[in-house]
Amino acid sequence: MDLNRLTLNKSRGTDDRSTKDNSLDSDENIQRKIIEHGIRLKSGARAHIFSTSEFLFNPNTKLYYRDGLLKLKSNPKPDDPFRWKILNALINKDIKINNIKIHSRIPFSDFISGKEEKRKVPLSNFGGNGRTFPTYTISKKNYPNNTNHFGCSSKKNISEIYYNRKSKGTLAHEFFGHMYLAQKGATYLHQDSLRSKSIIDPFGNPFIGTVIQFIDKCIKPNTKLRVLSPTYHVNKHFLFKSLNWILNIKKINEILSGRKLSKEFENNWITLSLNYSMLFNVPLTEHLRTQYIVRINGKSLNADSVRNQIVKWIGSINKNEFKRNILPLLRKNSMPLMLITHVRFKFHWN
Ligand SMILES: [Zn+2]
Repeated sequence: MDLNRLTLNKSRGTDDRSTKDNSLDSDENIQRKIIEHGIRLKSGARAHIFSTSEFLFNPNTKLYYRDGLLKLKSNPKPDDPFRWKILNALINKDIKINNIKIHSRIPFSDFISGKEEKRKVPLSNFGGNGRTFPTYTISKKNYPNNTNHFGCSSKKNISEIYYNRKSKGTLAHEFFGHMYLAQKGATYLHQDSLRSKSIIDPFGNPFIGTVIQFIDKCIKPNTKLRVLSPTYHVNKHFLFKSLNWILNIKKINEILSGRKLSKEFENNWITLSLNYSMLFNVPLTEHLRTQYIVRINGKSLNADSVRNQIVKWIGSINKNEFKRNILPLLRKNSMPLMLITHVRFKFHWN
């Protein structure tokens, strides 16, 4: 399946998105801006970017690095609006990425009542494969009530990431997770809440879970989904467009091309499945997840309504034929499975 062939419908200014929202227009503008200005990273970042495929949105994204700037070769259609937005927030920030061995000692500073204590500790002591050290200034700003500030960068003006390159997913965790939140002025330690920190989720609603929930659900690479980013092709435009495309199919044979799924169906199904997984999984609000609602053009969707519409649609085109001919193709290992698993459950299909 070629994820790059997916295109995005350009509906402009017709939905009910709020001002803070990740509108499609601004997604495109963000990408354009990154093409023009690049992302400035401190020297040494190049090796990390190119040796860590998870840093990229997908293997075919045309990113390159020149003169300290991470840039795009061309202006692709928005493929991962959420990640582009994160990258955009990191433009021209002073960030240094360090790739080290897990037992190497890393320098950082603790500030006890404003007094700096320089320290050096093996990365492994932190109980993970990576660690983000924002500057003391950021720590003070983001945690104004703390008198002591632990785990700050040992450099005055540069925030640092140390990570074990052998560990998959760690750089994405640190960079798109901790570093992004720190640079955005939010709390950035695992158990802290992001409530009222102006952090927006992939569907454009305020995120009010904890930092680790944010990273696990919105950042952590998910190899099961065939894409490295959990937000690849995930936002409300992708969600609504893929669902509508599928619901417009009237006959089983429109799904097939010979004995396989048609490319177009497969692409739309995968996009819908990725969005469904996000809708279902993300504790993006305080509400029960079934009440997590995405709105567009005066319509609204949640995980249950997506699944129910698909169940109804399968009933309308021929349930038994679908089970016999389409279900096995949708259960192939390489497909994201959550949506079809839930549909099977509804039909009592084993
Ligand atoms: Zn972490």
